[in-house]
Amino acid sequence: MVRGECNCGAVAFEISADLSGVFVCHCSICQRSTGSNGIAVVIVDNNVFRWLRGQEQVTSWKKPDADWQTWFCRVCGSPLPGANDKTRMFVPAGLISDGGEALRVIHHVWVGSKAVWDEIGDSGQQHSEAFEG
Ligand SMILES: [Zn+2]
Ligand SMILES: [Zn+2]
Repeated sequence: MVRGECNCGAVAFEISADLSGVFVCHCSICQRSTGSNGIAVVIVDNNVFRWLRGQEQVTSWKKPDADWQTWFCRVCGSPLPGANDKTRMFVPAGLISDGGEALRVIHHVWVGSKAVWDEIGDSGQQHSEAFEG
């Protein structure tokens, strides 16, 4: 069982699956969204994901004219899990507090857009643009 929560603790969730693969998106939109080199996420099936509390604090913003949307805590601003597609959710890896011991970066996407100071030092496979894993 994997558990995670936002910075203020208002929102918490659990995932009833073993997780191992982390995707890091280095695109310019994720850079601005996080103020960092992008965002690290784990992709899970909808049917293994469950909100434990605070779902009413989850809000989202869709970037106009882009296929990009973010979900975040309306109290503390932490990025939160959201819809990856119709059947899967993405979960920001940094939220995971329990059960993430086996997590390793397996794919870097939008590496062609990464920040000049962003040096990739792990063995994850690098993709210049999107990659559907
Ligand atoms: Zn919060
Ligand atoms: Zn991105």
